[in-house]
Amino acid sequence: MITNSVLIALIHEENDDAQLQPVGTTNLPPDENVVDPGVNQHLETVAHPDDVTQGDYIKAGTNGVADSSANHTDISAGTLNVYSLLELLNEKVYNQALVHWVVAGPTNYTVNYDSSEDGGNNGAMDGDFFDHEEQMVLTNYYDAVYGANVFLIHMGSDTNRAGCAPKPDDQAPARALVFTGVAGGYKYKVIGHELGHTCYGLSHSTELGNLMYPSVKQKDGTLGIGHRLRKAQWFRIHSD
Ligand SMILES: [Zn+2]
Repeated sequence: MITNSVLIALIHEENDDAQLQPVGTTNLPPDENVVDPGVNQHLETVAHPDDVTQGDYIKAGTNGVADSSANHTDISAGTLNVYSLLELLNEKVYNQALVHWVVAGPTNYTVNYDSSEDGGNNGAMDGDFFDHEEQMVLTNYYDAVYGANVFLIHMGSDTNRAGCAPKPDDQAPARALVFTGVAGGYKYKVIGHELGHTCYGLSHSTELGNLMYPSVKQKDGTLGIGHRLRKAQWFRIHSD
């Protein structure tokens, strides 16, 4: 029996901009501040085309009207039931390969990972496996005490990904992101799947119902990912 530990972190996006002039206010000087970056000093509001972004503020612009509505709604990563996760990992999935998981957390962080200052997670690939905002989360919130770290983040504009993990190597500790917007009720299976990638180097399986099936659902909407592991996968886990 192998024991492995995983820290689960819920990463909530903090949006705390303040409305300085109510939307629709007229006769403002063009450089009048309409939206303020709030306590975190990051602007998370995308300016209305009639307003102007200058530094961390949005200004009324030449029409003298406050058109932008301040973004002050946090984006929740949702919740996670540790017992449901433990049940899936230890009683349905990894018990087949004689791996026992210890789960720590979930730890909640409300942070501004939004370096592109558009109020949410872009989720876009920029050539690297993770975009710059996701990379920031993976770097800043990693806790090396645990065998693996899984970060749950609300899905941004890229709705194709349920989760992703770098391949394990000595330079890259075991970390993964799971996107709660898409994974929804499948998030526990997606966590199990990403742990397979990042801790044991498991690659994708074409077998329906396998833990390592590459997508949550098939194209026709029926189940794709499952909780099955095959013997070759157990051996891979034990050879790691
Ligand atoms: Zn995968």
